[in-house]
Amino acid sequence: MPAVEPAALHQRHDALTDSWVAISPARNVRPHTSQPSTATDAAASGLRPACPLCPGGPEIPFSYDAAVFDNRFPSLVPDPPLPPPCAEYAPSLGRCEVVLYTEHHIGSLATLSPLELARVVAVWRDRTGELWADPNHRFVMAFENRGEAVGTTIAHPHGQIYAFDRLPPFIAVRVAALARHRGENGGCLSCAVVAQDAGSERVVGDGRSFVVAVPFAPRWPFEVHVRARRHGLRRLTDLELDEQHDLAAVLREVVQRYDGLFGFELPYMMVALEAPEDAPDWHLAFEFLPPHRTARLKKVRASVETATGLFINDTLPESNAARLAAVGVVPREEAPPLIVEVQR
Ligand SMILES: [Zn+2]
Ligand SMILES: [Zn+2]
Repeated sequence: MPAVEPAALHQRHDALTDSWVAISPARNVRPHTSQPSTATDAAASGLRPACPLCPGGPEIPFSYDAAVFDNRFPSLVPDPPLPPPCAEYAPSLGRCEVVLYTEHHIGSLATLSPLELARVVAVWRDRTGELWADPNHRFVMAFENRGEAVGTTIAHPHGQIYAFDRLPPFIAVRVAALARHRGENGGCLSCAVVAQDAGSERVVGDGRSFVVAVPFAPRWPFEVHVRARRHGLRRLTDLELDEQHDLAAVLREVVQRYDGLFGFELPYMMVALEAPEDAPDWHLAFEFLPPHRTARLKKVRASVETATGLFINDTLPESNAARLAAVGVVPREEAPPLIVEVQR
């Protein structure tokens, strides 16, 4: 045991799995305002929750378009307290930010206007670019947890960005797979996956710059990947303006398909996967991981998945892709070019 108590915020190394765990007890007292979460619920209840993310709330006291601020309950911070000087402890170095998509309490990526959505993509691009530039950070990930099913405690349309001080294990596996493929086959694995997905019956939508498809081996029944076609588009800061607009459009369409699938806002995890250092074959991707397998039933990450990493998918990917592709989406409108200065 260490001679001194560890700081409240720290990381611990699990020797048996050779992986790190972020210990963050303060997060247990986060605010919960997740109901009502939809316009229907709000109308039915006649109530509007005291939302900390609405204009005038404690986070943003003024009206805003999109906004970014440091997470009040972070797991990783730029100036972490020092844990005991033992190899199995590490400071919780990094950054946790919150990205507000809009000042309106009701809405989602599916309902934002093209201009609003272009602004969100621009905010992701600018903030992740700044976080990647910090030499303390080895990985940066923008993401969204939508719905109580994936632990969202505040219903207001928002996402988050985490910056990590070491390469997370699943990301390291991806980097190694790219390098191994390059060594064995002399080509880009991501280009090969993009070509395979684009030519498959798993395509669920149109993307000029991105392939939108249920992946070949999805862990979640209605998992959808949005992956850059262009080799060299590795991070959000690599986006050309037309690619940025295309990305906004395909993300909106994916969420519209989800919402049309069962007739309610489908809970999901959405992760923006940008290239770490030394991963030249990485293609920028947004991966959607919704837990539902039917309108009523959710896939649970249960014993086998959690203990062994082997996911069991009770559905056929090609069938689910066809169901998603059949859902109607709102026709595209092009958002005008947008230069955004991020206010913090
Ligand atoms: Zn709100
Ligand atoms: Zn490639």
